[in-house]
Amino acid sequence: MAKPSNPHHSEPIPAAARAEVERLLETGDLFRYTAAEDAPVTLLEREFAEMMGAKYALAVASCSAALFLSLKALDLPRGARVLIPAFTFAAVPSSIVHADCVPVLVECGDTYRIDLEDFEAKLDGADAVMISHMRGHTSDMDAIMALAEAHGLPVIEDAAHSLGTTWGGRNIGTLGHVGCFSFQSYKLLNAGEGGVLITDDADLIARAVIMSGAYEHNWKKHPVLAEPFARWQNKLPLYNTRLSNLSAALVRAQLPEVARRVRDGRRNHDHVAACLNASPWLSVPDPLAKEVRAPDSIQFNLVGLSDAEVAGFVDEARDRGVAVQVFGASADNARAFWNWQFLGETPDLPKTRAMLMRACDVRLPARLSVEECTLVADALTSAADAVAARRRAVA
Ligand SMILES: *Cc1c(COP(=O)(O)O)cnc(C)c1O
Repeated sequence: MAKPSNPHHSEPIPAAARAEVERLLETGDLFRYTAAEDAPVTLLEREFAEMMGAKYALAVASCSAALFLSLKALDLPRGARVLIPAFTFAAVPSSIVHADCVPVLVECGDTYRIDLEDFEAKLDGADAVMISHMRGHTSDMDAIMALAEAHGLPVIEDAAHSLGTTWGGRNIGTLGHVGCFSFQSYKLLNAGEGGVLITDDADLIARAVIMSGAYEHNWKKHPVLAEPFARWQNKLPLYNTRLSNLSAALVRAQLPEVARRVRDGRRNHDHVAACLNASPWLSVPDPLAKEVRAPDSIQFNLVGLSDAEVAGFVDEARDRGVAVQVFGASADNARAFWNWQFLGETPDLPKTRAMLMRACDVRLPARLSVEECTLVADALTSAADAVAARRRAVA
């Protein structure tokens, strides 16, 4: 039986990057602030801001660093309470802890999106909102922005895994006060590591630029007005979480690939989703009406299966060459909130827990052909059929 290729293999880095990397290696010009102007990191910031339709961009070492700097740039007091969806990656609450703030976990439903009732109930006493568009699933941003605004709360978008998604025609990451993206290898733009934040707020970007490590007068190499820098110079700590020119060169060469990766990722996802939804045991939640997604993986719920059958499904899929992760079923999954023991006591969130115990995660990168995606879908539906057939044999 044909098996799909390894979904963790990345696309090759475009050839354009190689010439630029060679030039950087030749000159040793790896630090973003050495060149008088137009360093690769600076050019990346300009191009990324333009692509997203944002005024300012700051490239940093990771999306986690971007989230951390966003909180610091918002000047939240120590102990500030930051609402996040309970379905996210451990690095997200970690960035909040790093910024001396306190994450407040909000329930998520079986559509993977934030539970608005619980969100609303937790707004009183909150100081900021960090919306993680986990696995590229967008929560109702109209409702979230309206509720946050009514409470006077800033909104940070964790769009690490959402590049290319739109909401009502607007780019994800431009809806909140700050949007943060990742260049880690499993995201749409791959530099191994890296991240970027975007905003239209001159004061916020000035603070973030300084704290990212623009010491002395290096801020002059950012296209931001001098006035906010004069205000913040020497008043803020330098966390030194900059991006290197090498990483920027890798990302810049991939910017022309974004539209194709988004288009092919969506094609692959929607093809597999249609196949899975034809199975009585598998269910892929629909996108929200205003959302046009840019997935590079697929999430689906197992319907009507016991815990033992869920484990059986994972085994059957693996035998067919497809690695399935049930978010809540492995001992150390970093996306299961009860594993975030660094928070101290984790809250009881029955909705999110129930979802995580049945929600499956399968990588589906844009580089896969439709034929390979059909192999993935067939493996998953036949794995579910095999589990169900065993049940009938016992009954
Ligand atoms: C990958 C990811 C992060 C972390 O990004 P890094 O660049 O690795 O720090 C945060 N949030 C989400 C939703 C992610 O997918």
